[in-house]
Amino acid sequence: MVWRDIKADLIAVKKLLLVWLLLISASLFFNMLIAKEQTLELATDRAESIFSLIKLVRKWNALHGRVYVPITEASPPNPYLKIPRRDIETVDGQQLTMINPAYMTRQLAELALSETNLKFHLTSLNLIRPKNMADEWEMKVLTRFEKDSSEPVAEMVTDSKGSYFRYMAPLRVRSECMACHREQGYMEGDILGGLSITVPAEVFLELELNRLHPLIAMHLILFVIGMTFLLYFERYNRSKGEAELAYIDALTGINNRRSFERQFKIEWNRAKRRKEPLSIIMIDIDYFKNYNDTHGHQMGDQCLADVAALIHSVLKRPGDILARYGGEEFVAILSTDSEGAQLIGNEMQAIVENSGIENLGSLVSKGLTISVGISTDNPSKDLYPDELVARADKALYQAKTRGRNCVVYLNN
Ligand code: GH3
Ligand code: MG
Ligand code: MG
Repeated sequence: MVWRDIKADLIAVKKLLLVWLLLISASLFFNMLIAKEQTLELATDRAESIFSLIKLVRKWNALHGRVYVPITEASPPNPYLKIPRRDIETVDGQQLTMINPAYMTRQLAELALSETNLKFHLTSLNLIRPKNMADEWEMKVLTRFEKDSSEPVAEMVTDSKGSYFRYMAPLRVRSECMACHREQGYMEGDILGGLSITVPAEVFLELELNRLHPLIAMHLILFVIGMTFLLYFERYNRSKGEAELAYIDALTGINNRRSFERQFKIEWNRAKRRKEPLSIIMIDIDYFKNYNDTHGHQMGDQCLADVAALIHSVLKRPGDILARYGGEEFVAILSTDSEGAQLIGNEMQAIVENSGIENLGSLVSKGLTISVGISTDNPSKDLYPDELVARADKALYQAKTRGRNCVVYLNN
């Protein structure tokens, strides 16, 4: 198959191909949306686990009431923690300072940032420590927690520094928090602020891409399979159409001489096998040369098509075959005996005579007429198929010499 043929097929199926492309694109689009949603779900799941863990550690701290650590450069006394016995000294002179949940969360966040790509941030609209100030996104979410809904927020955010997955959930005041937050006027259950978790988007986008690649490949393969299928069918239909055309007479739409030869062989062998008679009817239009001369060649063509349709309408069995034998001659193959064939031959002669088609050039009638020659035999090894056709032709010749517009049956 050369490229020119493929191109022609592609053009022929372009509408179906376009529909197929649209279907595949729509499927890919929806699958990509689902993949994106799954990525966000996965990221949210991870953030929820981290959030729960941090909340658990904070609770552990708060439940102890006081957790002390040695005062170091990394853990200096928290100036925002204004409660009695914030800093103490052990009996052996070790200076200790109290670490409350907020201070601990900050230290954990610093540790996480130095060792992982995870960033978490404790913040509030009502800050004790000004440095814990919320960024723009956190501010928006905190305001939403206060005004609309305390449902956690999870989304992919892109700013000048890059793309991130961001998650934020509210932190509520519990009984164990009141020691530090009573002064700010909080009641148990109030939203104290929120803890935000930020992870670079690449971590999840890579996972998403891993899922997208096979998806895209699968859709591409599906498209190619569909396209091949369409091209194959186009080619199949075309060659079938071309093959059919090769056996059809273009002017009359009935079988051509080539088709007759092929069908005759098939019918001959079938009749021989079944030991059944086979009949051949030869039909020739009378004074057709004169018809052309009188009515014109164009009308002559139309007349040929009309006669073909008329004599074809007489055939009753689906297996009966009518072909244009050449010029103004037709031939019919009938799997029937001599009586049946003569009946059909007579009907053919009558239907043309009574059709009302004029032949002003005819010397036997004012209307168009045909002469018909018939022969029937039982195909056997002693008889050649051509002999049956020759006998029908002889019968037709006799019909002509007898004056035309008649039917002659010849046996042997
Ligand atoms: P006869 O009664 O003895 O059969 O006389 P005829 O004139 O029909 O027979 P003849 O063989 O002398 O002429 C056949 C004519 O059929 C000659 C030709 O112009 C015409 N013919 C053959 N094929 C076609 C065709 O496809 N179209 C048209 N219009 N005429 C055709
Ligand atoms: Mg003729
Ligand atoms: Mg003729």
